[in-house]
Amino acid sequence: MRGRVKFKDSSFREASWVLNNSKMKAVLFHKHGGPEVLEYTDFPTPEPKPGEALIRLHASALNRMDVMVRNGWPGLKLELPHINGADGAGEIVGFGKSTGEIEDSGFEIGDHVVVNANLGCGKCEFCLASKDNLCRNWHLLGETIRGTYTEYVALPVRQLYKLPGYFDYHQAAGAALVYQTAWHSLVKRGNLQKGESVLIVGAGGGVNTASVQIAKLMGAQVVVVGSDAKKLAMAQSIGADILIDRSKEEEWSKAVYLATNKRGVDVVVDNVGTTFMLSLRSLRKGGRLLTVGNSGAPKFEIDNRYIFAKHLSIIGSTMSTLADFKEVMDLIVAGKLKPIMDTTYSLQEAAAAQERLWKNENFGKITLDIG
Ligand SMILES: [Zn+2]
Repeated sequence: MRGRVKFKDSSFREASWVLNNSKMKAVLFHKHGGPEVLEYTDFPTPEPKPGEALIRLHASALNRMDVMVRNGWPGLKLELPHINGADGAGEIVGFGKSTGEIEDSGFEIGDHVVVNANLGCGKCEFCLASKDNLCRNWHLLGETIRGTYTEYVALPVRQLYKLPGYFDYHQAAGAALVYQTAWHSLVKRGNLQKGESVLIVGAGGGVNTASVQIAKLMGAQVVVVGSDAKKLAMAQSIGADILIDRSKEEEWSKAVYLATNKRGVDVVVDNVGTTFMLSLRSLRKGGRLLTVGNSGAPKFEIDNRYIFAKHLSIIGSTMSTLADFKEVMDLIVAGKLKPIMDTTYSLQEAAAAQERLWKNENFGKITLDIG
């Protein structure tokens, strides 16, 4: 195994001789396709640019996006080889040239950090207004640029959250993308209030389990609809109040209607897409449908009459802002939100890990151990 790179101080110049011509282990692909395109191999270690930190990752977490990017879609143009992975946690081992941002951040070599995959440019009107998720030159780590299935990443220091030394790297990596996504959608975009009811469509996914916990933390009542009795029971174990098994009730919006005294729920979290009609039916008048993805399919029909006649809002978002990320990571580190962990594979086993995720065999996050 490669030894950990040690630096005497925060001067990257002094350390650069270590990294020049240095190679790291990574899982990458040269062409889109099934799990067989993933290769565990050597790749040049990135050098941190001015204002960036170099992080030796110890854990990476999987997201369904990884498999979608690996499969590719029409119009997707990536610099190949590409490296999957939006989530990662590890320790800072070096810095690029000083820009002031490094000093202001207070980060030091040896700090444990988790990375924020939502990459704003830091310069445009939206970034300057702290709405970096609306950045005009936005990137998502592992999607539009190379990601975290690797030993090292270099990122601007503003993308890092400092972890307490005792905090588990896998839990931190498993939390980062899904909790910031669910937090921004439910709390910031959805304006979820104490005492409201929330329906979550799907019992097992990372964003869904994060949504159950966040809704409970906010004092909401949580209804979960799912098709797998075991996953529904697990959703209950993390706080879901009402469970609906859609394998028994295909028209589950009726069950939601009955479970809410024929009122309907205030908010639906629907990241499936193809279930939108049932979700719209499940909402009370004036309700909000929140969406951050489409695990079912991106295109489907909806009946416009439900939207205007019931005064409904459909609210989309993706990822969050730097401020939201810090806010939700503070709650995770404080133990108020607890990432649900599924299985850990070694970095070499990334293909098997992706298969497990894609087949929905997991409940909670799958992570890669990078040593
Ligand atoms: Zn920007």
